Amino acid sequence: MKLIDPSRLLASVSPAALLALSSGFAGTGLLAMQQPSLNWVGVAIGVGLTVLVAFYLQAVVLHSRHAADLIAARTADLALAQQTLEYDQAMRHFSEQALQLRDRAIELSANAITIYDAAVAGFPVCYVNPAFEQMSGFCRSEVLGMACCDLHAEQREESNVLALRLLLDQKKSGNVMLQNRKKDGATFWSEMHLAPIANTSGVVTHFIAVQTDVTALRSYQAQLAHTAHYDALTGLANRVLLRDRLEIALQFAARRKEPVWVLYLGLDRFRIINETMGHDVGDAVLKALAARVNACASITDTVSRFGDDEFVLVLEEPGQEKALIQIIESIMATVTQPIALGEEKFFVGCGIGVAVYPADGRDVETLIKHADSAMHVARSRGPGQFHFFTPQMNQRAIDRARLEADLRTGIEQQQFILHYQPQVDLHSGKVVGMEALIRWQHPERGCISPIAFIGLAEETGLIVPIGTWVIRTACAQMKAWQDQGFGDLHVSVNISARQFSDERLASYIASVLQETGLAPEYFQLELTESLVMTDVERGIGVLRELKALGVTLAVDDFGTGYSSLSYLKRLPIDILKIDRSFVSDITESPDDAVIVKSIISLAHSLRLRVVAEGVETAEQLAFLQLNGCDEIQGYYFSRPVADAEFSRLLQQKKSLPPYAPVLQITPPRLVKV
Ligand code: C2E
Ligand code: MG
Ligand code: MG
Repeated sequence: MKLIDPSRLLASVSPAALLALSSGFAGTGLLAMQQPSLNWVGVAIGVGLTVLVAFYLQAVVLHSRHAADLIAARTADLALAQQTLEYDQAMRHFSEQALQLRDRAIELSANAITIYDAAVAGFPVCYVNPAFEQMSGFCRSEVLGMACCDLHAEQREESNVLALRLLLDQKKSGNVMLQNRKKDGATFWSEMHLAPIANTSGVVTHFIAVQTDVTALRSYQAQLAHTAHYDALTGLANRVLLRDRLEIALQFAARRKEPVWVLYLGLDRFRIINETMGHDVGDAVLKALAARVNACASITDTVSRFGDDEFVLVLEEPGQEKALIQIIESIMATVTQPIALGEEKFFVGCGIGVAVYPADGRDVETLIKHADSAMHVARSRGPGQFHFFTPQMNQRAIDRARLEADLRTGIEQQQFILHYQPQVDLHSGKVVGMEALIRWQHPERGCISPIAFIGLAEETGLIVPIGTWVIRTACAQMKAWQDQGFGDLHVSVNISARQFSDERLASYIASVLQETGLAPEYFQLELTESLVMTDVERGIGVLRELKALGVTLAVDDFGTGYSSLSYLKRLPIDILKIDRSFVSDITESPDDAVIVKSIISLAHSLRLRVVAEGVETAEQLAFLQLNGCDEIQGYYFSRPVADAEFSRLLQQKKSLPPYAPVLQITPPRLVKV
């Protein structure tokens, strides 16, 4: 049982009740004392009234206390409600600001942003930002409601469009590369990130797509891919693409059991043009040649630029075997056509080597290597030649590499000497000069003919140091013989293409003449027609420069090259040397006899001296004397000999009998008539 705490009970009694009680009791007591007549009933009534009043007062006090408590509680509630309201307002304001910020951010985004409605078929556009408008050229009102895929330029079945459809159907996020269309019909590439937007219940209501224009990036990538596979200058396939294509061609050929032809084409004289006329002209010539070679091939063939002046073709069309020679000949013909650049005309030739799958090799590298070897053989046989690979060529390629290494050592160790072949005047019969001809004294292989190494020296550029040594040695030797009193002899030196294209040639010759003390009129240069004809204008310029030094210029091996009379007239030359291939047959072949006669009369009409090379017999000599040839050179008079032997020959005053036509040389037929 709960006991009432008297102190709490007292505390709950209000002061008014206590005052009423105390004043009631006091009043009743005073009244009882002043009026003793009052009986106890009256006192009791007084006490009772007092208690009643006290109770009443207590009740009134308690009620008003309760009311005050209620008011306080309500006031507190109101304050809390106010606070909550203020908080909500603040939160709403904050949310509104955040929303506005996002809105602005989306509007200002540099990426195109599109929102699609996920609840409607076709996912129509329900929002686009200004960046989208700028990127696509469409304004917002034009695209709102448009189906998502209508904005793409690609076919619906294309893989990237299908990938986008999959993301939309599966309501997934992901990246897609798309080609989009602009309002003006142009297209642009964009990288799109698509993401579904779900409501609070997790239902996808929209999609947001963020797109970046990657057109420039893609074209740059495409450009990079193109440069990785195509030659920047000619636009032909490069080595990488050639190897890829050949690899594929071999796989197909293996299945179909058909051959594949690999043609290796090396240009003649291109390097000279490049070095002398500069790279711009060289580039223009190469471009023209590449286009011509390309035009000879069919669409399925691969034409590649394999080196600076080398092309490789892969022919894989069935039945091409029969047409192969025709194709090769058409390539040769088109390459050798003059190339006109402005006022200038350039002449380039080529040699072609052929290797065939599977006979000459079963893999890419072997076939290319073998076609290359065949090309070298073709070129060593002269201009405009082609050659098929043979197994012996492998050995030839190895020999070539060894020869090149030896040649470098030969230069270092000065293993070269000059031989001299007399040139005899047919009118006087006397030696008037000599041709200096190089020999290589190889420590193991003995004396090597220039025919075996000049071509390689030319290709590798080693001809330049070799050639300068020849000029210096020949001039010094000639001066020494003159000083020994052997008369007014001249020395003739052969010049190769690389030397002719070297801008320093004239100044080098001038300095050698000065240093050795040999007068320029005793120095001759022998050049072939092709050297000059590669670039006629420049060639004439170089000849004039050399002529200005006072030296004599001879065209060597005349008749084997272009023999273009119109150009010959323009060349500032002094001598024509008839090639020995004509001389060797003059007494047997009426054609050659006619050619030699014509060359002599042509040369004389152009006021040129004529030297016949390779005179081996008295008959040949007689024919040449009869037809007015000026000088001869050949084994009949003397082989090329070393300087000591040449000195002896000079000392002995070796000569031919002077020419006396009527007395000595009368052809038998004429006598009969
Ligand atoms: P080339 O300038 O036409 O020289 C004439 C060649 O014919 C020489 O061959 C010579 O030995 C040869 N020969 C001379 N008379 C006769 C003959 O009666 N019958 C036959 N069958 N041959 C004869 P070689 O010395 O072997 O030189 C060959 C070529 O090498 C030269 O032809 C020349 O183009 C080149 N050559 C030689 N020396 C040099 C040089 O120092 N520099 C350059 N760049 N080329 C050189
Ligand atoms: Mg010569
Ligand atoms: Mg010659």
